[in-house]
Amino acid sequence: MANASRDPILLTPGPLTTALSTKAAMLRDWGSWDSNFNAVTARVRERLLAIVNGQSTHVCVPLQGSCTFAVEAAVNTLVPRDGHLLVLVNGAYGHRLAKLAGLMGRRVSVHEGPEDQAIRSGDVARLLAADASIGHVAVIHCETSTGILNPLAEIAREVARQGRKLIVDAMSSFAAVPIDAHATPFDALVASSGKCIEGPPGVGFVFARRSTLEGCAGHSTSLSLDLYDQWQYMEKTTQWRYTPPTHVVVALAAALEAFEAEGGQQARLARYTRNYEVLVRGMAELGFRVFLAPSIQAPIIVTFHAPADARYSFRDFYDRVRDKGFILYPGKLTKVETFRVGCIGAIGPDEMRHAVNAVRDTLAEMGIRDAQPRERASKAA
Ligand SMILES: *Cc1c(COP(=O)(O)O)cnc(C)c1O
Repeated sequence: MANASRDPILLTPGPLTTALSTKAAMLRDWGSWDSNFNAVTARVRERLLAIVNGQSTHVCVPLQGSCTFAVEAAVNTLVPRDGHLLVLVNGAYGHRLAKLAGLMGRRVSVHEGPEDQAIRSGDVARLLAADASIGHVAVIHCETSTGILNPLAEIAREVARQGRKLIVDAMSSFAAVPIDAHATPFDALVASSGKCIEGPPGVGFVFARRSTLEGCAGHSTSLSLDLYDQWQYMEKTTQWRYTPPTHVVVALAAALEAFEAEGGQQARLARYTRNYEVLVRGMAELGFRVFLAPSIQAPIIVTFHAPADARYSFRDFYDRVRDKGFILYPGKLTKVETFRVGCIGAIGPDEMRHAVNAVRDTLAEMGIRDAQPRERASKAA
């Protein structure tokens, strides 16, 4: 996976390093009314929908903006104004979803579990059985704040069994972790252009169950985030309701071509898994310790404990690794000091090996001989 530019490799979970063919697709201008552009949109929607096997049950509704815009649109369109949403939280993106639902005026209940443990479907069963007013459940598939993978299939079956509707934030898992709309019932699953599909950021999309979305007219309290209107307008006119990010859409089409040429979701997962293994093995040799148990860790982004050594500061560490060509990601946990490294993007095991080497050289420059984190260092003492 040659990086044809001198740009640093982004080890961040979006924006991420894209293929040259994806970047090159952005070198043309397109009219948003033009039928050629609208044909691109239609093909992108079809191909995205096929990745979750949703052609016979769901529709793909794209929306301008970062990932959060699409999550907000899904919640605001699916949950009626007087609806009651249960949000399953084990990290920052779960908290964000609960917050936006509350701001949209929905009644929200939060079930919060520890950040280092997956949501348990048994808890979902109990909470739904105890409160018939909950009509919708929302869950984050891969909670990117840690990298934890929640058991989506189990949760989806439980929500369906109790006759409620499910909204899934699958931003950082879609196109890498398998998701099948037939095996895993969901009413809306939200993803975006700038993560595992390896396009540029700027377009979100919602896979909505057609029969559910048909009943959602008038739910939205926002004009621009009304997914129902966006869908209806696109069905009627083939156009986007408001100005589309044309360059992002055509780059997403190029990214989809690369995705299919690579072998689709399975091949992508296999490559990310190799990236993850090279990273974790190399970092462990330097003394770094991962935050999550391997059994619940997705091969998407890895949270590492910060070294205990007093010479460590994330800012200095980050700057020095960046000067060697790799962009790391700060931690997002409140109680322990961590940082994160993404395994996704148009990169392979070679880039991960080089990244580990850059970290090794950085530690040497900072005079840190062992990257062991605090707890283990103090236990050993
Ligand atoms: C990236 C991401 C988002 C949205 O992030 P934006 O900053 O709006 O792009 C939402 N949920 C998850 C799980 C994510 O990984």
